[in-house]
Order: sequence, then C-alpha cells, then structure tokens
Amino acid sequence: VAKDESEYYFESYAHNDIHEVMLKDAVRTDAYRDFIYQNKHLFAGKVVLDIGCGTGILSMFCARAGAKQVIAVDKSEIIDKARENIYSNGLGDVITTLKGRIEEVVLPVASVDIIVSEWMGYCLLYEAMLPSVIWARDRYLAADGLLVPSHASIWMAPVADAAYVADNIGFWRDVYGFDMAPMQRGIFADARPDVLPAAAVCDAGDAARRAFRVLDLHTTTVADLVFATPWHATLNAATAAADVDGFLVWFDMFFAQSRHVPPDMIGPATTALDWVADPAKRDAGLVAFTTGPFGTPTHWRQGLLLLDDKNKKKLAKVDAAQKHIGGVIEYVTPDGHARGVNIKVSFGPDGKDDKQDQTW
Ligand code: SAH
Repeated sequence: VAKDESEYYFESYAHNDIHEVMLKDAVRTDAYRDFIYQNKHLFAGKVVLDIGCGTGILSMFCARAGAKQVIAVDKSEIIDKARENIYSNGLGDVITTLKGRIEEVVLPVASVDIIVSEWMGYCLLYEAMLPSVIWARDRYLAADGLLVPSHASIWMAPVADAAYVADNIGFWRDVYGFDMAPMQRGIFADARPDVLPAAAVCDAGDAARRAFRVLDLHTTTVADLVFATPWHATLNAATAAADVDGFLVWFDMFFAQSRHVPPDMIGPATTALDWVADPAKRDAGLVAFTTGPFGTPTHWRQGLLLLDDKNKKKLAKVDAAQKHIGGVIEYVTPDGHARGVNIKVSFGPDGKDDKQDQTW
C-alpha cells in the first residue's frame, strides 16, 4: 500500500535533526519562550494544548510558566522522546502526552484556555499544518481563549541580486570548465528557500512595508489560506524593471496577549521589527519575529521566486522610467499535493493590463 503524503510528513519529524534545527533557531524558539515566560500571568492555572509538540519544548515552557495542565499532541514518533524529556525534567504531573493526529486523539478535557503551536512552513503556509490548528481551535479553544502565536503576516518585495543569480543559475554553465545547462532545467519552477541580503530588496519601501496578507489566527478559516490579492512596488532609484530578478516572500509572526487586539496594533503596515523596536511593546511582554531579509535569518529562510528567462525579458521591456510595478499574488493548493502551496504572481507596469505571470 502506498503511503499517503501525511505519513511521509510525520516521518520527517521522527528524527533528531529537524528538531535540532528548530530548537537552535533562536529567533523562533526565543520568541515562544519570551512570550510564555514574560506572560506567566496568562498561563498560570490554565489548560494549554500544544499542537505538534515535537520534543516537548513549548509544553515545558508552559508548564514552567505555571500552567495547570498541558496536553502535548504529536503524530510523529518524536513524541516518545518528548514524553521522556518531560518526565526527566520533572514535569510529568503537569504535561500529558498524546500520540496521534490532533484530529484523531481523544483529549482528556472538553476545552482548553490556550493553544500553543509552531505550525509555520516555508512562505508561511507550505506544509499546511495550519488547517489542523484551525480545526482544533474551533473544536477545543474556549470562547475567549488565546492562540500563541496570535497573528501572522506575509510579505513580498521585488529583488535584484545579479551575484546571487550568477552563483546559483549561471553557475551551471561553467562547472569546472564544463557546460551543465541541463542542470538548469526546471530551476525556476519552484520557490527557492534561501536567505537574501536586505540590499537585494529593490523596492523603494512600499512593498516591504505592506503585507499582502494578515491573518488573525483566532478567526482565520481554512478558506482564507487560498487567496488572490493585489501587490504593488515602487522600484528604488538604483533599479530598473530590467534588473528585477524575481520576488522574495517572507512572513512575520506576532504574539499578542488577547484575542481582542486594538485595530491599530496589527495591520498590513505593521512589521514584526516595528514591535521589537517599540520599548512600550517590549515592556508590555508583546513578542514578534520576522523571517524576512531585514532581520536575523531563521531556518525558514525566505522564499525566492526567480523569474524565468522569458518573464525576465518581458519585465525588461517595461519602460526604464516606469518605477511602479504590480499585479496579483495568489496562494493556491496544487492538485494532488494537499501540503504544497503554489504561488502565482502576475506582474507588469502598474495601471496597465499587460501583465505576465509565473507560478512557483
Ligand atoms: N513544537 C515543537 C515542534 C514543531 S514542528 C517545537 O516548537 O520545537 C511541528 C510538529 O507538529 C511536528 O513534530 C509534527 O509531527 C507535528 N504535527 C503536524 N501536524 C500535526 C497534526 N495534525 N497532529 C499532530 N501532530 C502534528
């Protein structure tokens, strides 16, 4: 019997390596720790559900913060080690581990006060774990319960980085003196997880300052995860449309203390770095992090959408004086690959119909 996609998915979390990578990503793990430890009053005496507990790290943070009961669920074999980690750290009386899919296990409680989960994938939604969190939220989270993290936003900006393209695409045309052009086949078909320098971002600021999607995780539905939304960028002085190599996608995560956040606290123009730089927010125990090119790199890197030669040439035809480009960005679930995400971007001079598009 062929394994379904989910079996491979859970097997990929069975071994140490992936958990080591995640735990050593201090941007990621510190954010959860800081939020939980700086907001012990939220956790004290509460029932917490940890969806996808992995090694048990987030459950142990919550237990240390004073949670009354933590239910740690994971379908992967890693949970056997989580159980040992929990016992050997003396937290076995607070944390209950349950092996299985969150959609299938029987929880010992009817509802929980807090759901904590680290579900984010490449370009935020790749690997599609968020639908499981949404399902559990609707089934188990108390009416005024809290999701940790609470909000996510997704960003995209045009990039120009001739050195990157030479190193990663042009590279194949001269490998120790051999032309390996066939290795380039399909090279533009997928988003490349990679860290680009901030200097590669070539918009004058507006794209990098405006998220194309903001998700309030308390209310987001599965249908909200498939969408098409306009994007827009003004190229900076040093960049003409012909220089644009593609688009960079990243996400920011926010940890608020309540599901009722003031409307001015999180919106399309709010970056995680704005939160981090704001002493009032820091002092208040609000936490955020970015996976974008203006912050410390994370294990998610960014999603680099490189234009193929044909599309790069088409963009090169845009008038050099035309600084305003834009189009529509779409997240779609590919047929037969429920955990995948296809990102389709249309692009061209703003305000004109002659848009091209490419799907990664
Ligand atoms: N919370 C840990 C691990 C995060 S990785 C940490 O922060 O380090 C995500 C984990 O979620 C993986 O171990 C994976 O097996 C698990 N997972 C994903 N979808 C799940 C589901 N529907 N039910 C149970 N576990 C799930």
